Amino acid sequence: MSTVTELFGSKVFDDRVMKATLPAKVYNSLRKTIDEGTDLDVGVANAVAIAMKDWAVQQGATHYTHWFQPLTGITAEKHDSFISPSPDGGVIMEFSGKELIKGEPDASSFPSGGLRATFEARGYTAWDPTSYAFIKGKTLCIPTAFCSYGGEALDKKTPLLRSMEALNKQALRIIRLFGNDTVKCVKTSVGPEQEYFLIDREMYCKRKDLVYTGRTLFGAKSPKGQEMEDHYFGVIKPRVEAYMADLNQELWKLGILAKTEHNEVAPAQHELAPIYASTNIATDHNQLTMEVMQKVAARHGLVCLLHEKPFEGVNGSGKHNNWSIATDTGVNLLSPGETPYENAQFLLFLCAVIKAVDDYQDLLRLSVATAGNDHRLGANEAPPAVVSIFLGDELTAILDAIENDKPYNGSEKTLMKLGVSVLPKFPRDNTDRNRTSPFAFTGNKFEFRMLGSSNSIACANMMLNAAVAESLKIYADRLEKAEDFETALHQMIKKTIKDHKRILFNGNGYDDAWIQEATRRGLSNYPTTPDCMPHLLDEKNVKMLTAHKVFTEAELKSRCEIMLDNYSKTVIIEANTMVDMARKEILPGVEGYMAELAGTIAAKKAVSSGMACGYETGLLTKLSQLTDVMALRCEALEGALQDLKRCQGAVAESAAIRDTVLSKMTDLRAAADEAETLTAGKYWPFPTYGDLLFSVR
Ligand code: ADP
Ligand code: MG
Repeated sequence: MSTVTELFGSKVFDDRVMKATLPAKVYNSLRKTIDEGTDLDVGVANAVAIAMKDWAVQQGATHYTHWFQPLTGITAEKHDSFISPSPDGGVIMEFSGKELIKGEPDASSFPSGGLRATFEARGYTAWDPTSYAFIKGKTLCIPTAFCSYGGEALDKKTPLLRSMEALNKQALRIIRLFGNDTVKCVKTSVGPEQEYFLIDREMYCKRKDLVYTGRTLFGAKSPKGQEMEDHYFGVIKPRVEAYMADLNQELWKLGILAKTEHNEVAPAQHELAPIYASTNIATDHNQLTMEVMQKVAARHGLVCLLHEKPFEGVNGSGKHNNWSIATDTGVNLLSPGETPYENAQFLLFLCAVIKAVDDYQDLLRLSVATAGNDHRLGANEAPPAVVSIFLGDELTAILDAIENDKPYNGSEKTLMKLGVSVLPKFPRDNTDRNRTSPFAFTGNKFEFRMLGSSNSIACANMMLNAAVAESLKIYADRLEKAEDFETALHQMIKKTIKDHKRILFNGNGYDDAWIQEATRRGLSNYPTTPDCMPHLLDEKNVKMLTAHKVFTEAELKSRCEIMLDNYSKTVIIEANTMVDMARKEILPGVEGYMAELAGTIAAKKAVSSGMACGYETGLLTKLSQLTDVMALRCEALEGALQDLKRCQGAVAESAAIRDTVLSKMTDLRAAADEAETLTAGKYWPFPTYGDLLFSVR
């Protein structure tokens, strides 16, 4: 058994391996590519490929794959072996720089949202040297971007990298204005806290809804739910503990900094948080983490559910995206500094985020929109679908003082003026415990809490980075021309606060009164995916995203189409699964119990013809009504699905689903759930909520 330090990164072609296996010249050249984005020449690529292959083969790998993140939301891979025939009839293991740099998977079945109708049919993958290659099973996985031949992004990595570049460019302009010439690059970092459910595999297999859709579509509440709040941070049960230990080992081998684990609010719900990393790496690692979580669960006779709302009536699962911006010299630009000048710079970056989140609320909202996450946002357990920022009292008071030329902190009677010595040092540990805010400042980072547990974090971060890049660009454009930097800076911060304070809210985000207040403030509220997604193509959004080269207009159109299509397909599969379960399992199950009841009634009548059999007759009547209702509601749901055929286009179809199909699903479920509460356990055809939520010990 190796120690954690030996284990950590043992399956990764990381800096340690590169240093040990590459000639110094090759290593330095590759490092420059990784750190500064310089081009890689073929000679270097060939040397890297050979070292990578030798290392991988030594570790037992036989294949390699370009590992990428198509718009399906999960990762994709196509394995090729290293073998190449040798003249003597045997094989040698080969891998070239060309194969490392570029791959050409037959990509025709990945969603392209029409991009490939206008461009080439095939796509290609391109090596992302900033994310280390790793071994999974017997395969060397090379993180890659995935594009069409026209250069249009067909994946989530490409726009994420472009957004990081956009932010880097604009942030550097600002930093230079503050007189810093040493910083070479600015990067965003993310620590995603991942929630999940663990349930028993045998029970899972008996539920078609879980198997087909990842969530329960039926299920009466179990007598006990999360009301005792005894699960949150509770003692971890042995089977879960064994799972977590195994999971940590597997993640550590892959160089993933799995750090914190605990039970969450709902029964059977848990969380894993890694130590934060550069956004690109954090994204790759989060995708891998989700995959490994599911694989390791299978080894323990468990299933890891990553759906946002696997169970009605208990909390769903989210993913908190802790985000910060830092320089390559190690300065966190969202951390209040030691000197007034640093603090002025901090306030400017803070304002850039405030302005970005207000101007592009819609982009942030839609970056987390899926059919699954629609069940969570606004359901009094997750932030509402309205975006707002929590800053905490301290920082709010400081901004208020700046806006109104008021003294901050009564006793000091200091006017808030930036860049001069009167700016107070604010406390670092301004940690937020307001868990109801969608976008909370937590001392030295922002925590974006609207992400669903199954979302790729790439989507939220590309929008966030791009929007902040836009604020910084506007600031830099003005400040570079300013005659008096300090006055201009002060004015701009003041103006941002005045113009964008409507997005600031420190109160309870779960409160209905807040939604009304938010509407009054003119904040957007898009409860569902069909409500928000079309806004991706709003003029202001297209303008900003194309200006920073994060997307082309064609890419945006294709993405909007794909996301809506994905929404529609998800709900249609759910609806079909419901009809299938109701007709083939629930109705026959309930009818079995009804037959037994009828038999009991007949038997009782036979022994005493005068007996009323009130209880059995009443129950039988009720169940008979419910089965009739269920059958009718199945037909109604099928009718709604049929009607979708008349919809023209992705927007119309998704809207019809939102308006008709979902409510018919709710109706059918209500009748089935009521029948469940009345039917004898042995007749119920699949495991109940109680079984699913409380059986893992
Ligand atoms: P909690 O939210 O449970 O109180 P923390 O807020 O301390 O826990 O950390 C949650 C996540 O935030 C972790 O993944 C952590 O690595 C990450 N994190 C901490 N500092 C930063 C930072 N400067 N930038 C990005 N993520 C960070
Ligand atoms: Mg946190």
